Amino acid sequence: MSRSAHPAGPRHADVLPEGHYTAPPADLNALDAKVWSRTARRGEDGVVTVGGMEVTRLAEEFGTPAYFLDEADFRARCRAWADAFGPDADVFYAGKAFLSRAVVRWLTEEGLNLDVCSGGELATALDAGMPAERIAFHGNNKSQEEIERAVSAGVGRIVLDSFQEIVRVAHIAQEQGKRQRVQIRVTVGVEAHTHEFIATAHEDQKFGIALADGQAAEAVRRALKLDGLELIGIHSHIGSQIFDMAGFEVSARRVVQLLARVRDEHGVELPEIDLGGGLGIAYTSDDDPKEPHDIAKALREIVARECEAAKLRTPRISVEPGRAIVGPSAFTLYRVGTVKPLPGLRTYVSVDGGMSDNIRTALYDAEYSVSLVSRASDAAPMLSRVVGKHCESGDIVVKDAFLPADVAPGDLLAVPATGAYCRSMASNYNHALRPPVVAVKDGRARVIVRRETEDDLLRLDVG
Ligand SMILES: *Cc1c(COP(=O)(O)O)cnc(C)c1O
Repeated sequence: MSRSAHPAGPRHADVLPEGHYTAPPADLNALDAKVWSRTARRGEDGVVTVGGMEVTRLAEEFGTPAYFLDEADFRARCRAWADAFGPDADVFYAGKAFLSRAVVRWLTEEGLNLDVCSGGELATALDAGMPAERIAFHGNNKSQEEIERAVSAGVGRIVLDSFQEIVRVAHIAQEQGKRQRVQIRVTVGVEAHTHEFIATAHEDQKFGIALADGQAAEAVRRALKLDGLELIGIHSHIGSQIFDMAGFEVSARRVVQLLARVRDEHGVELPEIDLGGGLGIAYTSDDDPKEPHDIAKALREIVARECEAAKLRTPRISVEPGRAIVGPSAFTLYRVGTVKPLPGLRTYVSVDGGMSDNIRTALYDAEYSVSLVSRASDAAPMLSRVVGKHCESGDIVVKDAFLPADVAPGDLLAVPATGAYCRSMASNYNHALRPPVVAVKDGRARVIVRRETEDDLLRLDVG
């Protein structure tokens, strides 16, 4: 990520602890449309509204911390992906990014398919009415029970991740008198990460079956022989928060080469390929994500070109965006509790949540932006670190942020682009109560996942 040198100015920035920060934005009150959901506005009175709801009112009604999901934004992103890929491709929303019954209903209505990777995600999807044939079941160690349930529910595909699983799924399908549609997940030897892709160390991870040493071809051989399986294609997922299409290009080429090999060896043209998810979003103003339309165009061209070279019919493509759909649709609202200036360093602003509602900063060194949203301010920018209330010094929500120097206890701060992998990775660390998810739309707010209570905690504690 590009980091510019800091111009002279802000008060606490004359000593730079880790040299890792951006210049302050020109206008601290502006909401960058790249990182905010599309209905976010700052009103005349300085209060930010999303989905037509003022954050001050949301905080009063639902408390803080809380996640607010902009339904119109979420649905618009679903439509953008579905439209970009069109009727001869399939878009699977990766449920692990964030899943709830309301979200499943929106996906169903918007014509998307759904990836799940656990019994719990499958239960949520089925309960909310996602047709089973639109569900793909993933995971590198699906349990016997999970496979049985997926097969008996009639999921559209199971993505096979190991030799053991090929046999397990075939056996379970046969026991149920079925032929399960499956894909084989291959490791293409590309690990895409942010701006670059690295073609080393890629096979040294737990997912998929390696292409390189002929194992993937062997997996295809075995799957084709088993009566319980209908092998519909090859699956590849190369990473996450990817901005560069180069990794997909290598991945698509290698997957198509496998299809050609399968055709040569077995006389079968597998009809589908899945290129996975991992498309990047803007967490800060430095990020420049691609539009679904451009991604679709690039992927189609790559696949068409490779298929032409291999003299194969172009397979049906599927993609699996998670973050790119739900990430920008939600923000987390926090209330400031304490403000602690460390002279010559920076100011620590403590909020009422932290690593229990957003582990990504601690886990991946993820970057976020933050805005004062309960009022506008003309105060100078102040180099800040937004931290949580947990008993860890690594409990950081936003590592480097500029906030107005008059930020004070009681102010509301919002961290945008927290729709993906925040609530879904939330924990009860320090017996924190996991925050609610509230859908906002057209001046109305509705809880879709309620806040945990102390009763919830104590109910599990049966000792
Ligand atoms: C996590 C995952 C995705 C979604 O990744 P995003 O970065 O959220 O787009 C898609 N497919 C598979 C197999 C995954 O594991």
